[in-house]
Amino acid sequence: MSTRQSMWEALGQTPLDLLVVGGGITGVAVARDAALRGMRVALVEMRDFAYGTSSRSTKLVHGGLRYLEQGDVGLVFESVTERGVLTRMAPHVVRPLGFVLPVFENAPRKLAIVDAGLWVYDALSLFRSPKVHRRIPKAELSREEPTLDTRGLEGAALYFDCATDDARLTVEVALDAAARGAVLSTWTRVVGFLRDEGGAVVGARVRDELTGAEKDVRAAAVVNATGPWSDHLLRLAGDARSRILRPTKGVHVVVEHAKLPLTHAVLLQHPKDARVMFAIPWGDRTYVGTTDTDADADPSEVRATAADVAYILDAASAYFPRHPLTRDDVIATWAGLRPLLAPPETGDHLSESQVSREHHLFVDRDGLVTIAGGKLTTFRIMAKQTVDEVVRRIHFRRTSPAHDLRTRAPLPGALDLADPAARRDAVERVLNVAQGALPDDVAANLVDTYGARAVQVAGYVLRDASLGRRLASDRPEIFAQVAYGLDEELASTVEDILVRRTQVFFRAKDQGTACAPDVARFLAARRGLDAAAADAMTETYLAEVRRSRAYRDEPVRAGT
Ligand code: FAD
Repeated sequence: MSTRQSMWEALGQTPLDLLVVGGGITGVAVARDAALRGMRVALVEMRDFAYGTSSRSTKLVHGGLRYLEQGDVGLVFESVTERGVLTRMAPHVVRPLGFVLPVFENAPRKLAIVDAGLWVYDALSLFRSPKVHRRIPKAELSREEPTLDTRGLEGAALYFDCATDDARLTVEVALDAAARGAVLSTWTRVVGFLRDEGGAVVGARVRDELTGAEKDVRAAAVVNATGPWSDHLLRLAGDARSRILRPTKGVHVVVEHAKLPLTHAVLLQHPKDARVMFAIPWGDRTYVGTTDTDADADPSEVRATAADVAYILDAASAYFPRHPLTRDDVIATWAGLRPLLAPPETGDHLSESQVSREHHLFVDRDGLVTIAGGKLTTFRIMAKQTVDEVVRRIHFRRTSPAHDLRTRAPLPGALDLADPAARRDAVERVLNVAQGALPDDVAANLVDTYGARAVQVAGYVLRDASLGRRLASDRPEIFAQVAYGLDEELASTVEDILVRRTQVFFRAKDQGTACAPDVARFLAARRGLDAAAADAMTETYLAEVRRSRAYRDEPVRAGT
């Protein structure tokens, strides 16, 4: 596999059919789709794959029951169809999860009505949801979900959607795009656009954010897939018109699973405003979220406030009073901006949750194509529509008739981890490859993270036993994952590894602050950098952790 450095060097060597700006799920999917059609395509990402919203979602591949309630049947149909496609493309990162939907006795919607709605939800997936939903009578609830306070409940429904690791899904789509010939240069920022005599966009000026070097990249078409940065990029292109986005902020908090020991995900309605949220079991952790508030912040600076954290903990306490959570229980937080499309002026009165989750293509007079809005779940559809537009614009001819089928091809680590026997076999294979050098919890974590590719990571330990060292004594992540991230997954920095190639940032009680200097020295040595560069990398990571914890310095009940 190429390294990030060789990708930077390859960039701009030859003129391209397509340059994609932004390495979130949308951009990497566009690059993959274009490469599958035989286009010469490159992608530039100013930090790392999934640096933006694509590592900060609720981590669900779902139809969105809430959108059904809002009457958005088309969006739900599209999403549940994609959920089915993704469970086949990436069964190791898109896994079935049961959701308990509690129904209160005094709620306007009785259990029978919720049940009917869930029949529609199942029917929209042509009854191919991971499992068909069922009712849980009140008497059985404390057995099914012992954490839940059943007082005042009529009963509940258990329905199925999928959980994912959003950043890893993005990385895998990126790796697949690279395997199919796309050049993907991370830590590469677009700082300006190239134009022909007629003013049409014919490429971009890009800067290597690791060295400061700049170069021009020429392309017949340029796609803006910068999610919540879409308006920034349009302004950079000289478009001073009204904004296309109405971004809203969403925050999640992580606690130890023992503090909120859920069996299923639970759908919550906030006691204050009845907004729908989730509490989700996550292995040794549980996370709860999300908020949904208008946000004008720089997407790079967005963070959880004390008010956000208090709001989320209030919802959890209402549903799980026997497991009260306080701010001190919060291990980590994450905050992201939804790149929602601004409603037409007549829609100014809409609340944040009412703003459409649809996606839309905008084509500027200068030819710049912007894809905005949408969901993680629908990335393949968004990519197809975007590349269809590019094909029309540049009169590209080599699309194969079976293209849609080709985009459904399995991602690199595809392995059915929902099947316990397949997972056990995979762990066994990793233990065998490492020839006794790896303990069970480490092998299991490798399989859960990399699916079929876990054996390659184990191979690193066989060649160099020191790479079996844990990043932290109480965690299953090992140094082989740092080396593998650098060699095989286009990672460069400490935050690439600890936030997006592993989940140390979210799961470790210290969020990886103790191991960050070690990881930085390891990366610096392998990249031929000096001690000062390692220190700078550590400091950048620690600043990210501080931002995610800044709420701790605010009063417990800051304004709302
Ligand atoms: P991003 O992931 O933000 O990617 C844009 C990229 O562009 C960034 O990585 C950024 O660094 C890069 N960039 C910006 N400017 C430049 C530049 N000048 N040069 C180069 N690169 C640049 N969807 C679901 O399906 N399921 C969910 O459970 C779900 N939950 C959500 C919860 C929350 C709180 C939020 C905020 C969103 C959620 N979504 C969910 C929606 C989903 O996460 C987003 O729609 C999706 O991740 C957006 O991806 P993107 O690639 O468009 O944007």
